Amino acid sequence: MKKVRLDEMTWSEVKKLLENGVDTVVIGIGSTEQHGPSLPLQTDRRIADTVANFIASSLENTIQAPTIMVGNSPHHMGFPGTISLKQSTLEAVLEDYLESLIHHGFKTIILTNHHGGNCTAIDNSLEKARKEFPAVRFVSFYNQNTTEAINKFCEKYQLTPAELGAHAGDLETSIMMVLDENLVCPDWFVKGFVGDYNQEVRAKAHREGYITLTENGVVGDQRMASKEKGLDYLSTLKEVILNYIRSELEKS
Ligand SMILES: [Zn+2]
Repeated sequence: MKKVRLDEMTWSEVKKLLENGVDTVVIGIGSTEQHGPSLPLQTDRRIADTVANFIASSLENTIQAPTIMVGNSPHHMGFPGTISLKQSTLEAVLEDYLESLIHHGFKTIILTNHHGGNCTAIDNSLEKARKEFPAVRFVSFYNQNTTEAINKFCEKYQLTPAELGAHAGDLETSIMMVLDENLVCPDWFVKGFVGDYNQEVRAKAHREGYITLTENGVVGDQRMASKEKGLDYLSTLKEVILNYIRSELEKS
């Protein structure tokens, strides 16, 4: 298996790769925030790291930068353990990541984001970076092209989109069971908010904190989660994301 993690390499290995045409780097972006009473705080960053690793392993001439493990999560601060970077801090982190990688000669930078709270900071950082580095290609994934897959999961496993969940529901719980079963506590699987999670409800939860929407922190239902479903969810989503990134790379 090819080595793709930048932080597992020596500087001389990175130099050699750059000289041999490796010019693309993937950065996973996650969060360290509550995911209900049964999932670890690392859930989003673990998924981000797994997807980024898959992309880097699947594309030619690509390596993986260290995953950004903490994101913008002020709306989860009502739950102990959540760590939140201010939007301005996350933008500064992204700016420094991009500048460092571009300094070394990377020509294509792929961001794969797995936490909604990070979107504005990423959009702002990319807008700035595109102006500053017009010769560099930037591709950014967050939820694009996943609707069809999500609808199929709901049909196949007889779940409503609300149960599959926007946060720590059946989807993330099942995936986390695949990524590290030891960190998941099935005895504490709960049903969270499964009402209409529309724009208005979401905006209110972001404004006033998720604790005002869901006492246990879950938006979805974890009680039917399983490792088998997790394997299906993860492999399907990895392919959807990779296809999206491939098509964006072809366009640019
Ligand atoms: Zn999550």
